Amino acid sequence: AQDRRWQMRATETAPGTQIVHLLDQTGQHAAERMRVDFVANASHELRTPLSSILGYVETLSDEAGDDPAIRQRFLGIVFDEATRMERLVEDLMSLSRIEAEKFRLPSATVDLNLLAVEVHEALRHSRGTRGEDIVLQLDENVPPVAGDRVQLSQVLHNLIGNAMKYGRTGTPVTVTLQAGPRDAVVMQIEDESEGIAPEHIPRLTERFYRVDAGRSRSLGGTGLGLAIVKHIVERHRGRFDIASTVGKGTRVTVTLRAAER
Ligand code: ADP
Repeated sequence: AQDRRWQMRATETAPGTQIVHLLDQTGQHAAERMRVDFVANASHELRTPLSSILGYVETLSDEAGDDPAIRQRFLGIVFDEATRMERLVEDLMSLSRIEAEKFRLPSATVDLNLLAVEVHEALRHSRGTRGEDIVLQLDENVPPVAGDRVQLSQVLHNLIGNAMKYGRTGTPVTVTLQAGPRDAVVMQIEDESEGIAPEHIPRLTERFYRVDAGRSRSLGGTGLGLAIVKHIVERHRGRFDIASTVGKGTRVTVTLRAAER
C-alpha cells in the first residue's frame, strides 16, 4: 500500500542464495512520528509564554520599569504567562503519570455523587469561573465505581471546566449521574453553546488539538484536557463519547463500571 513503511532485511541462507524479509514498520513509524510531534508541540507551547516573560522582564529592567503604572501592567502579564506555563507543566505531568499507570487497573471504590459535589464546590470558588451555573442531577442509587479517585476527579474537573469555558455566558452546565445497564454508571456533562462541527470531534482527544487555538488559550486552555480524560477513561476500561449539535451545544458521556460488591 502507498503509505506503508517497509524495512528490508536480507539473510544469506546458502552461498549465492538470499532470503529477503520485508518488515512492515508502519505502526512503529506512526508511533515515533506522534512522539516527535508531541515533543515539538509541547516545546512550542512552553516557549511562547517563556519568550514573552523574558521580553517583559528585560523591558522592566530598563527605564520602563521606573514607571509604576507600566511596572504594574507588565508584572501582571508576566504573572499570567507564568501561570499558563504552570498549567501546561501540570497537564504534561498528569499525562505522563497516567500513561505510566496505563496497565494497572485502579482498585479503589469511588462515590461519583460525592466527587461531583466536591468538584462543583472547587469550581464554584475558583477564579474567573461561573460555578453558580452548574446544575447537578445526581441519583442516590448510582453504585460506587472501581476507580482512582484523583483521576476521576480530574475527568469531572476537565469536562465541567470545558463546558463552562465554551458554553454561552449565562447558560447552565448540567452534570447528570445515572445507573446504566449491566452494572454501568453513566455520567453526562452538557452545555449550551455554538457546539462543535462534526469534522473536529474525532480529533478533540489528540494532544494539543483545538478547534480555535486563540480562544482556548485566552480561556486558559492547554489543549491537553480531553487527551487526559481519554487516557483516564481508558485506564478505567470505560467509554467516552462526545456528541455535539452546531448552534445548540455539546454533551460528553463517560461510562464507567460499578465496583464489585
Ligand atoms: P483546551 O485546553 O483547549 O480546552 P481540551 O483538550 O480540553 O483543550 O479540548 C480540546 C478542544 O476541544 C478545545 O480547544 C475546544 O476547541 C474543544 N472543546 C472541548 N470541550 C468543548 C465544549 N464543551 N464545547 C465546545 N468545544 C469544546
